Amino acid sequence: MIFDTHAHYDDDAFDEDRETLLAQLKAAGIERVVNVGASIHSSHTTLELIEKHDFLYGAIGVHPSETEELNEEWMNWLEEKSHEKKVVAIGEIGLDYHWEEPARDVQKYWFVRQLDLARKVKLPVIIHSRDAAADTLEIMKEHGRDLGGVIHCFSYGPEMAREYLKMGYYLGIGGVVTFTNAKKLKEVVKETPIDRIVLETDCPYLSPVPNRGKRNSSLNLPYVVDMIAELKGITAKEVMEKTWENAKALYRMTE
Ligand SMILES: [Zn+2]
Repeated sequence: MIFDTHAHYDDDAFDEDRETLLAQLKAAGIERVVNVGASIHSSHTTLELIEKHDFLYGAIGVHPSETEELNEEWMNWLEEKSHEKKVVAIGEIGLDYHWEEPARDVQKYWFVRQLDLARKVKLPVIIHSRDAAADTLEIMKEHGRDLGGVIHCFSYGPEMAREYLKMGYYLGIGGVVTFTNAKKLKEVVKETPIDRIVLETDCPYLSPVPNRGKRNSSLNLPYVVDMIAELKGITAKEVMEKTWENAKALYRMTE
């Protein structure tokens, strides 16, 4: 039983075979997936997709790189849609300084606003943070300490991991942990208690070895499970069971 806590099945990369692929997941043991919005458009398409498939749940929110499209009207729309039954989180939101746009101030402003929205509607958050460790931590300490949620595709070192674990956050671990050059992330997984780790694909991106570079899907998660099991010295079955329970707790699902 595998829970993929972060996927983008509404992405164009799945246009050719989306329904066929989704139909294969359950038989492969992928029993629940959270499809994550990253813009207003993909929040719309996420809502459409989760309505069609009982095992898909959704998160809505605007990724830092897309924040220039946000305004009060769209914030009101996000608030309204956050009350829909299968919407389980606000995200993905955060900071991304990899490309120097939108301006850092713009990203920070809408990050804080979406954290405040999550507080208002009582949902956990999915945090995206790339090349922005210090600013993300500062904002999270001030505005996100009590919200609960996941640091998705965790990419920083053990010290930063400890800060988020202290605040009660889960760490999202995906394909990157199988890369031979992912030494830092392997250290993080070794040090993080198994009850604070959740599985994710971020598909279509970040396929694990041996499928690195190809389109990713939840079908690849067993490779991630095996690597986590090896790093922590436990069985793959334990990894699947624990991360399933963690994912349910993260998204506050009662069944
Ligand atoms: Zn994502």
